[in-house]
Amino acid sequence: MPRVTFPHMGESYRTFKMLMNDLGNEVVLPPRPSKRTLDHGVRHAPEFACFPFKILMGTYVETCLLGAEIIVTSGGVGPCRAGQYGQLHKKILLDLGYPVDIIVFEPPRLHPIDFLRNIQRLNPNRMSYRAVWDCIKRAWQKLIALDETEKITHVVRPREIVTGSTTRIYRKVLEWIDRSHSAKEIEEAHSSAVEAIKSVEQDPERKVLKVGLVGEIYVLLEPASNLEIEETLGNLGVEVERSMFLTGWTRENTFSETHETISVKDAAMPYIPLCIGGHGMESVGHTVVYAKRGFDGVIQLAPFTCIPEIVARTILTSVSKEHGIPVLTFFLDEQTGKAGMSTRLEAFVDLMKRKKWQDELPEHNAVKKGQ
Ligand code: SF4
Repeated sequence: MPRVTFPHMGESYRTFKMLMNDLGNEVVLPPRPSKRTLDHGVRHAPEFACFPFKILMGTYVETCLLGAEIIVTSGGVGPCRAGQYGQLHKKILLDLGYPVDIIVFEPPRLHPIDFLRNIQRLNPNRMSYRAVWDCIKRAWQKLIALDETEKITHVVRPREIVTGSTTRIYRKVLEWIDRSHSAKEIEEAHSSAVEAIKSVEQDPERKVLKVGLVGEIYVLLEPASNLEIEETLGNLGVEVERSMFLTGWTRENTFSETHETISVKDAAMPYIPLCIGGHGMESVGHTVVYAKRGFDGVIQLAPFTCIPEIVARTILTSVSKEHGIPVLTFFLDEQTGKAGMSTRLEAFVDLMKRKKWQDELPEHNAVKKGQ
């Protein structure tokens, strides 16, 4: 049985674990990225490689040490380095002495034949196309359950009465979804998970801020790479809306662009009229859309040395001025610390509060009285 692994991207590993097992592979689970992962990544990746490349490098070394023989990953389109990740990782791993193969999935709507060929390589028992399709359908259902459940935590966390209660329940319900296997079980686990999170005790009167999260896909989806920014913001009383989830990204790259993607690209067009690779264009477009929807602020997550996000960052200064929406950018790398990030987030939240509720703030009223 081939020993297969894949990148760790948030909770999506639970879906890929089930899918790879169902297709007849032995799964080597990628560990959650840690300091040890980064140490491996920094040691073996080129110095100026982007941050996600280093984390993936470290993850692959860790999984190769656990016996992985095949790495399954996605490719990338557009003028940035993502498209070369697979080949470069493979070359470095072979040089290190790990006899590993990498299967790179490119967007199926652009490369349908390659997609089918790759699926066959991960189908050692030569299951029928119908059976493979059933496995993929259940995996998709589980991915939706994971994404939808996570979205609800973003709404509940800033309103919870007991700090940390949403995260505690969320950890528990993830295990329910993880254990489900048949379509019926996944459906039941999904609805029980949503119920459980909604039943967290909340303060419905609490005023919360609404912030959009934009940026590069890996640092948006993997909390270990963004130092759990969504949780920190939730604990500061901020409802987060992340611009990208794996289900949304998969829909766009598998079928055709959704209406949402098209309107985001339209919104970006006056500022950035061509694809610059990565998600630079989407970062700008989503910021415009969030401003139009009345959000209180936007946070951009950018890997250090990521050219598309650096370009987007320079444009976001004008977007922020023209649309009157505060934008905060974090460039993330192995040096970024949680304490520094929390301090900047607290200051940003303070700024948004002043902008939104200026007249209600006690210090503002004190100044007024003293006039
Ligand atoms: S999008 Fe940015 S981080 Fe991702 S591969 Fe391209 S340059 Fe690197």
